[in-house]
Amino acid sequence: MDQRLAILADFADLTHEEVAALSSQGALTLEQADKMVENAIGIYSLPLGLGLNFLINDKDYVIPLAVEEPSVIAAVSSVAKLVRGAGGFHAEATERRMIGQVQVVNVPNLEQAASELAKNRDDLIKQANNAHPSLQKRGGGAVDIAVRLLNQEPKAVFPPMLVLHLLVDTQEAMGANMVNTMVEAIAPTVAELTGGDVHLRILSNFVDECVATAHCVIPPPLLATSEYSGEEVRDRLISAYQFAASDIYRAVTHNKGVMNGVDAAVIASGNDWRAVEAAAHAYAARDGHYGSMTRWTVDYDGNLCGELTLPMPVGTVGGSIKVHPIAQLTQKITGIKSARELSQLIVVVGLAQNFAAIKALVTDGIQKGHMALQARSLAMVAGATGSLVDIIAGQLVASGEINSSKADSLLKEYTVKKS
Ligand code: NDP
Repeated sequence: MDQRLAILADFADLTHEEVAALSSQGALTLEQADKMVENAIGIYSLPLGLGLNFLINDKDYVIPLAVEEPSVIAAVSSVAKLVRGAGGFHAEATERRMIGQVQVVNVPNLEQAASELAKNRDDLIKQANNAHPSLQKRGGGAVDIAVRLLNQEPKAVFPPMLVLHLLVDTQEAMGANMVNTMVEAIAPTVAELTGGDVHLRILSNFVDECVATAHCVIPPPLLATSEYSGEEVRDRLISAYQFAASDIYRAVTHNKGVMNGVDAAVIASGNDWRAVEAAAHAYAARDGHYGSMTRWTVDYDGNLCGELTLPMPVGTVGGSIKVHPIAQLTQKITGIKSARELSQLIVVVGLAQNFAAIKALVTDGIQKGHMALQARSLAMVAGATGSLVDIIAGQLVASGEINSSKADSLLKEYTVKKS
């Protein structure tokens, strides 16, 4: 640990205080925690590790990951090393447009109401920006509106309603609070223009206008294992993707693997991972069918091509990012300069994690690597501490019986021998 911290301090130019914060169990003080949430009684810690070897858009990155599950960090680091050999990952992100919704019910004439709103577009945008003027000064702010009429079909189960969307460029913030402030500000005008009753005024977490995409292209020789040729691994990987794209039972597990990486990166960055989770799964069902978040295909040269696009409502400011000392530090470690750059890193980690999981599944099976890493947790649950954790974990792996009763008996044997 000390050696790792020393290398990291050198790499990311960390101060003594920052290194001390990393070593002090999360660095968040009880006082800060008490200001962040209600009825605070303590701090729940998670391990913070480093995703290594990432080459993204020709730039090297070390990506901090906060996760309790063994194997996630090892898997993404190993995949990043493999993909680095193929020129690294490429990633891009769209402009950042968050959506605020205003729900209007009991509208006397929906078409007329929609046209009134469209006529008053500029005024509505101006009002929204007046409610949070600093955003516009930074080059962002409300930029457009859209009107949607719901439950129009004759057999609709629910009553018709009008929904106004306010599109907001939230710049470096995720923007939930900013957008909520804006939609609340324009709601009285929306009620007046439509003649209806305004009910909900809230951000939509389905941020399909703020997405990031990661790609990789891997030549078959890099995929070969002792048992399978590169072409065989490639084709088996594509078949695994096709399974997830066709079957919800597989898709959810496939996507959980993607989110193993995504959530770990989002949590480490101090962002709202519930927002990212909710948006990601909805995006995987955007055509009315829940399928694979990733896409794996073969190109004309026979290379394996991977792609992941996800909504990525993350910020470099706002929420608890400027409050949580580790969120500040992880930003410094990645060296990112913008929320768009952060969103690219996160989708790359998701794509890498998906590749690692399906490659293991189509070759050795997931348990070989996973259980070897899980062995450490079993050793700790059995009561091993310090260097004994790795000794018992090693014996568990060698025994081929990686379970808790074996861990108990190995620890007992070891203790008896020692005494
Ligand atoms: P904040 O309310 O913290 O607003 C962002 C802050 O960052 C503002 O104070 C803004 O300053 C400041 N800022 C500094 N520099 C910039 C910049 N370059 N660009 C943009 N802002 C800048 O956070 P958000 O509005 O981002 O809301 C995120 C929080 O809202 C998260 O904690 C989330 O969990 C929570 N939330 C989520 C909801 C959901 O997902 N449905 C609903 C409600 C809340 P200034 O004030 O001067 O503009």
